[in-house]
Amino acid sequence: MHDWTIVVCVKQVPDADEVSIDPETGTLNRAAAAAVLNKPDWNAVEAALELSDAVGGTVTALTMGPPTATEVLATAVGLGCDDGVLLTDRAFAGSDTWPTSRALAAAADKLDADVVICGEESTDSSTGQVPPGIAAHNDWSQLTYVTDLDPNPEDGELVATRDVEGGHEVVAATLPTVVAFAFGENHPRTAGLHRKIYAETEFEPRQWSAADLGIEDEVGLDASPTSVGGMDTASPVDREKQQFDSVDALYDALVEQEVV
Ligand SMILES: Cc1cc2nc3c(=O)[nH]c(=O)nc-3n(C[C@H](O)[C@H](O)[C@H](O)COP(=O)(O)OP(=O)(O)OC[C@H]3O[C@@H](n4cnc5c(N)ncnc54)[C@H](O)[C@@H]3O)c2cc1C
Repeated sequence: MHDWTIVVCVKQVPDADEVSIDPETGTLNRAAAAAVLNKPDWNAVEAALELSDAVGGTVTALTMGPPTATEVLATAVGLGCDDGVLLTDRAFAGSDTWPTSRALAAAADKLDADVVICGEESTDSSTGQVPPGIAAHNDWSQLTYVTDLDPNPEDGELVATRDVEGGHEVVAATLPTVVAFAFGENHPRTAGLHRKIYAETEFEPRQWSAADLGIEDEVGLDASPTSVGGMDTASPVDREKQQFDSVDALYDALVEQEVV
């Protein structure tokens, strides 16, 4: 066992199954939806726990968000993470992906991480920019679209299978490294009863502010280089419906329309 320090980034997002669009304003009705753990981050947590099962060490769940984001840390701790860190501060408000990844990178550095594992993307902003951003801020190696991890602790390397167009590639990264684990590529475990009770009753995350990380001037709206120019909703596309009595009839129709 080599005892790697593994950090898994988890984000609190509105439950996509409950988000609706306000017909008057055409904007997302986020407040009506429950806040839950970002779906791809279940895969990130599972990958982190499997890695620590293989090499030993600790898994710390890390989130940046309001105090209510403690709930996603508790979910991760219930699944088996050892600890949780909440980055919360008014100074973080309005951060786009650049300062968000700056804050997560500073926290990963403070935690002395060997490996940071993120989900592929969030379900509410979906940029996929945060994991490469963490790597860039800390000048660490990065592995994106990862479908499988194979630790090589003897050489201080993490070997990843990456999904690339038309196939896959196998890449070895020197630690410390940042992984974006592909959505749906492993089977997240369910929480054990005792761990879940601990997470929901006793667990309290460590809380760090921007000042604790020494990045007060590098986060928030003023430090965010992007701005949203406008927003609109798209009209639904009309769809044609046809029913077939048999698979053969369906196949013939698809051939006729040159779909197969
Ligand atoms: C132009 C623009 C302006 C924005 N302005 C605002 C704003 O004013 N206020 C506001 O609240 N949001 C704002 N956002 C959203 C905010 O930037 C994102 O929520 C945040 O930067 C994360 O980006 P993402 O959701 O695309 O993450 P992605 O890169 O898609 O997420 C990939 C992975 O990174 C990790 N991750 C991402 N975010 C977090 C997090 N917070 N904590 C822990 N892990 C995380 C997770 O593992 C996740 O699976 C803005 C976004 C854009 C593009």
